[in-house]
Amino acid sequence: MRNPLSPIRSFVSVWSARHLHLPIKEMPFVYLDITDRCNSACLACDIWKARNAPLAELDSDDILALKPALKRLKTRLVSIGGGEPTLRDDLETCISGFRDMGIRVHLNTNALNVDHKRAKSLTDAGLSVVYISYDHPDRDGYKAIRGVDGLDRVIHAVRCFRSLPHPIPVGINMTISRLNQDMPERLAQRCVEWGVQKIQFNLIHTHLQHQHMEKDRFIPLLPRPEDVPGIKRTLRRVTRSLRGLGVATNSDFFVRRMEKTYAPIRPIPCMAGFSSVVINPWGEVMPCYMHPTGLNIRNHALDRLLRTRGFEEGRVQVRHCKIPCWDTGSAEPAIRFHLPYLLTHLSEVWQQARMHLS
Ligand code: SF4
Repeated sequence: MRNPLSPIRSFVSVWSARHLHLPIKEMPFVYLDITDRCNSACLACDIWKARNAPLAELDSDDILALKPALKRLKTRLVSIGGGEPTLRDDLETCISGFRDMGIRVHLNTNALNVDHKRAKSLTDAGLSVVYISYDHPDRDGYKAIRGVDGLDRVIHAVRCFRSLPHPIPVGINMTISRLNQDMPERLAQRCVEWGVQKIQFNLIHTHLQHQHMEKDRFIPLLPRPEDVPGIKRTLRRVTRSLRGLGVATNSDFFVRRMEKTYAPIRPIPCMAGFSSVVINPWGEVMPCYMHPTGLNIRNHALDRLLRTRGFEEGRVQVRHCKIPCWDTGSAEPAIRFHLPYLLTHLSEVWQQARMHLS
């Protein structure tokens, strides 16, 4: 059984590595992308386009060989993404392997591949929380943004996860662009009707996993600068009402600073490489997608890689990072690791921690 004080110990370990430059002892979160293949064709993403992969994808033996290192690093959560991870039929093997050692597993999916049977096999394998991408409440709008006529399948997948004998929490990810910037309210309303547990919003951007996106495809999707204050007002209203309904969502701190998605100013210290590490489908390890290290889990155990000079140099880049970056995946954990925020928002941080880690 886990020590009830272990979350505090993890917090202190991560916080002191970031702020007091102490050696890394724990790595609570691992973002593990298991494929760059995808069955969507989103306008706001280029991962689905055929590319020359540098290496073969990690297989499930390579992935589960991480387990001893994750144990030593006291990892609490593995967040599996892609590409589209459900395209791999060994996904359940990976999930159950991590769950066997008490690690929570999240899945980030477009849900196009998920019917009742797959939802059941994923939850039977031990999946803890599923995050589903859902960018438009109408069929044509969804198709225009995601390149496939898939809205009915997404709705069906949410219902499948929620109607299982032991339903798991469902989170919804909405990426806001010029094509759907008027839709957050309607989309949130629908998600609440479906009984989801979390809805989070991001502005479209071209960093992190989308850093290679062609600029001429991106510019027409970018909200106009004069529209951003209105989007923020809408999101503040929507997130406030979601919180009132007990649905987890973005922090108000995040929404108030959303224009930072496009400004090279970091309102709070980034925790990438301190609280989390990224492993891509080919085994390459980095603190964040923008700061590759050349290190690979095929060569050495993860905990050993995190102690190398190469990874430490990646952390130095994180400390000085000026990349415009205000994405929920990196900014929200950083907000909750920010001591002034934590101390003034204990109940909200507790709600998030309970959903993700308990
Ligand atoms: S702010 Fe952090 S997550 Fe964002 S690009 Fe820089 S290092 Fe990466």
